[in-house]
Amino acid sequence: MLENLVARPTIDDQTTEESRRWFERAQKVLAGGISSSARAFGGGSLTHPLYMARGQGSHIWDLDGHEFIDYLLSYGSVILGHAHLAQQAALIEQIEQGTMFGTCNMLEVQLAEEICRLVPGADLVRYANSGSEAMSGAVRAARGFTGKNKIIKFEGHYHGWLDQLAISNRPALSDAGPSDRPNSAPHSRGIPQSVVADVIICPWNDPNALTQILDEHAGQIAAIVAEPIVANNACIMPQPGYLEFLRSQCDLRDIVLIFDEIVTGFRVAPGGAQQLFGVIPDISVFSKALGGGLPISAFAGKHKIMDLIGANKIKHGGTYNGNPLCATGALVALQTISAAGALDELRNNGEIIIDVIKCSAAKNHVACLMQGLGSMFQIVFGAEKPPRNYRELLTSNTETYGRFRQAMLDQGIHINSSGMACWFISLAHSEEDVETTCQAIEIAMKQIA
Ligand code: PLP
Repeated sequence: MLENLVARPTIDDQTTEESRRWFERAQKVLAGGISSSARAFGGGSLTHPLYMARGQGSHIWDLDGHEFIDYLLSYGSVILGHAHLAQQAALIEQIEQGTMFGTCNMLEVQLAEEICRLVPGADLVRYANSGSEAMSGAVRAARGFTGKNKIIKFEGHYHGWLDQLAISNRPALSDAGPSDRPNSAPHSRGIPQSVVADVIICPWNDPNALTQILDEHAGQIAAIVAEPIVANNACIMPQPGYLEFLRSQCDLRDIVLIFDEIVTGFRVAPGGAQQLFGVIPDISVFSKALGGGLPISAFAGKHKIMDLIGANKIKHGGTYNGNPLCATGALVALQTISAAGALDELRNNGEIIIDVIKCSAAKNHVACLMQGLGSMFQIVFGAEKPPRNYRELLTSNTETYGRFRQAMLDQGIHINSSGMACWFISLAHSEEDVETTCQAIEIAMKQIA
């Protein structure tokens, strides 16, 4: 049990001296002191990122010894919990046998068998090492299969940092263009205009806008790429019938439907969002929960597309692909996740937290609503009705989210510093964790009211 909630010290620059010291040291050798642009900032009262020392189950400890219940979970990756015992044992055994050979191995086969067993749209699999890389493989496959270049991406959806998909991730309104016909806004300097020109941006959950764009670019679109639940837009859900609409338009117009299930895969159901919603894409992309904390990703699809990769007509490679160490971690993750009832318990815990947030907000007259499911969700402050897309989400109150997040951190609850992202539950979160979290929510809501 965490120490008394109210008596914990505020998490600020004064109480996180060790993190501050390491950040100063890091700035001398890492660009910006960080390893990923998303980690630039601790949020709230902190002027530096928090450095974590260790994790055990659902709990993590920072360098200054603060203990937190973790709902970031490395952006949903650590679905088994930190330092999971069975996974550890399997990994140690594999380390003793060698971590990688750059050759074929049994574990990559066993893991692919498990993916194909669980995922409705997976006939054949290829591995990569990060979500961004696997998304690139999926887009290459779609272009190679259709012989077309253009892709449709939805505004606000995130598919990684690589050039061809890092477009209109979370564009500033000044760059975004009209809401029904958004600009293709590169996410970074250094993305060539020639790449941007092949990515058409569409508002999410708007069938009319999509139809118009499809008509305008008739015969030119290789793929429609989407996060079925928009983890990177506070868990915006698909409007009823929208995923079915994407499926039918792709069938009608010979377009490859790619679901980015990097966050939803093996989390919202053993077979991902496609199983949950009953809409099967042509290619699905996985990472995060797949590895259970190990860096591995995969794209998987139907024979008609993946056979072209098998025949080496569409090339795909990678030194580390399907290495025995990461495949071992992933195999334990999938076997554990797919055990009877495992994801039900995870979802139930999340649903309890969602209900407590709703009740506590109502009691304290805090305007907010909840989006997502028990396994991944977010609070949207200041919204009266669920935002359907990125533009509507932009009207939410991020300042209140920041205050709520700081109040939770002060009570030992670690959630994403961005209100645009979401909370994740692991299999390691216990009843006691949920209870402690719910108490913290009551206090945080009072503080921000
Ligand atoms: N797609 C989605 C939905 C993601 O949330 C992310 C990362 O958070 C990615 C793709 C990119 O994955 P990675 O950071 O492993 O490259």
